[in-house]
Amino acid sequence: MTHAYDDTNIFAKILRGEIPNDTVLETEHSLAFRDITPKAAVHVLVIPKGAYVTYDHFAREASNAQIADFTRAIAEVCRREGLEEGGYRLISNAGEAGLQEVPHMHVHILGGQALGPLLAG
Ligand code: 5GP
Repeated sequence: MTHAYDDTNIFAKILRGEIPNDTVLETEHSLAFRDITPKAAVHVLVIPKGAYVTYDHFAREASNAQIADFTRAIAEVCRREGLEEGGYRLISNAGEAGLQEVPHMHVHILGGQALGPLLAG
């Protein structure tokens, strides 16, 4: 998979403050905000502030500080959203097979309800 980053994507615009978002958490290297079309009672997207296309791109090329910040941001969102007790699901779609819609690396945090099977149909 190529990792050429297109900075016209919608999450790049959110990071530049060009379009609004419903922020849940902002850290030095990461931003968490509510998905505009929530698929569960809680649906938060966590993105790195750096220009990474997919999870593997981020995991390979981001600094240890960026990776630690991102991982801990996920934990903090789970805590703030009250998901630790009832559980949750993390999803990171990548590329064509993953049906990635926005080419800026992100992890979906889904919870607040029973989520059903991992893959539908
Ligand atoms: P993907 O399929 O790339 O993993 O998911 C992209 C997600 O971004 C989708 O769940 C979609 O609803 C969400 N999304 C797309 N545009 C916007 C936007 O402008 N603001 C927010 N908050 N979420 C968006």
